Amino acid sequence: MSTTQMTAAEPHVAENYHPLPVTITSGEGVWVTDTEGKRYLDLLAAYSAVNFGHRHPALIDATVAQLGRVTLTSRAFMNDQLEPFAAALARLCGKELVLPMNTGAEAVETGIKVARAWGYRVKGIAPERARIVVAAGNFHGRTTTIVSFSDDDTAREGFGPFTPGFDAVPYGDADAIAAAITDETAAVLVEPIQGEAGVVIPPEGYLRRIREICDERNVLFIADEIQAGLGRVGETFACDREGVVPDLYLLGKALGGGVLPVSAVVGDRDVLGVIRPGEHGSTFGGNPLAAAVGLRVVEMLETGEFQERARQLGAHLAQGLEKLVGHGVTGIRVAGLWAGVDIDPAKGTGREVSERLMERGVLVKDTHGQTIRIAPPLVIRATEIDWALEQLRLVLEG
Ligand code: PLP
Repeated sequence: MSTTQMTAAEPHVAENYHPLPVTITSGEGVWVTDTEGKRYLDLLAAYSAVNFGHRHPALIDATVAQLGRVTLTSRAFMNDQLEPFAAALARLCGKELVLPMNTGAEAVETGIKVARAWGYRVKGIAPERARIVVAAGNFHGRTTTIVSFSDDDTAREGFGPFTPGFDAVPYGDADAIAAAITDETAAVLVEPIQGEAGVVIPPEGYLRRIREICDERNVLFIADEIQAGLGRVGETFACDREGVVPDLYLLGKALGGGVLPVSAVVGDRDVLGVIRPGEHGSTFGGNPLAAAVGLRVVEMLETGEFQERARQLGAHLAQGLEKLVGHGVTGIRVAGLWAGVDIDPAKGTGREVSERLMERGVLVKDTHGQTIRIAPPLVIRATEIDWALEQLRLVLEG
């Protein structure tokens, strides 16, 4: 099918995405329904933004209750929802302060600004010299500064000039990070597991070693937990897998409960406190509707129920996927309820497998050609995982 045919259903929508040809009209829990009334099991969960399932009743209740009060004040004034949300999120992270934004990319941009300001004002880096070490294969969003340190040509090509000040090293190699740090380095910014790259899990000890290096060299450790965090991997944060606490958490996606965009940078006062009034902000960041939903998300995570589900069902998913290795699957990487599944090119591309799965009522999305990513809402049941894997088996067999 040509791109034109694919997008014929959205003639007025700019083609910055290449969606699967399915138009969703409603969703509940793990299931969505299209315009024809056909139901699909959603194994993408909006790239982990729908961790709690579509329209989770507790999140809809929080939204509706706040819709009846006030939705947007801007930060020119205070609202009664932001401080309770910030207090709860700070507690969840074991930190002191929260800087609220909206999208993931904004949280990353905020983290970069905080790191640079900390570098100049606290560490004493000479003006305009601060650098940030990042990892190859990263995905942190789509702004011009963020694509400046991407190595994905599609993300960069034609969008320069780029923002300087970043040093990329191979992902998973802590020694390379140590070697890249100089007196001008303000921060190390990494995804604890690389999501867009295909659920790439670094070697055990990588995050611990980054923590040690950052402590030794007086450099901030910034963990982009926007896709990996908030229950997905069977812990609250992917850094918890190694018992590591970064200086700044970058959070987004599931923080908005799949209802609206909510992101945040979370850290202690000695770091996040460097930002002074007027230096950074957002009209919508910290709005009362977002804060009401975000607070409910944090309360749900505080029960530990979703992390436990991701752990147990993730083990179940891993077992099922193992059986497909050698039968159309060349490799799998699983962390909690999150999997990168490499498709044997003899069976088609990741896109083709995604389309065939869609016909069978399962929604996934390819990433980087041959990989499909599985990231169901954490409310999925074991029987639903089994059914989805059976569909994948049939697609790969056919
Ligand atoms: N960081 C990571 C690790 C992500 O996976 C993403 C989105 O996929 C982002 C940042 C950007 O988030 P957003 O699309 O909300 O700007």
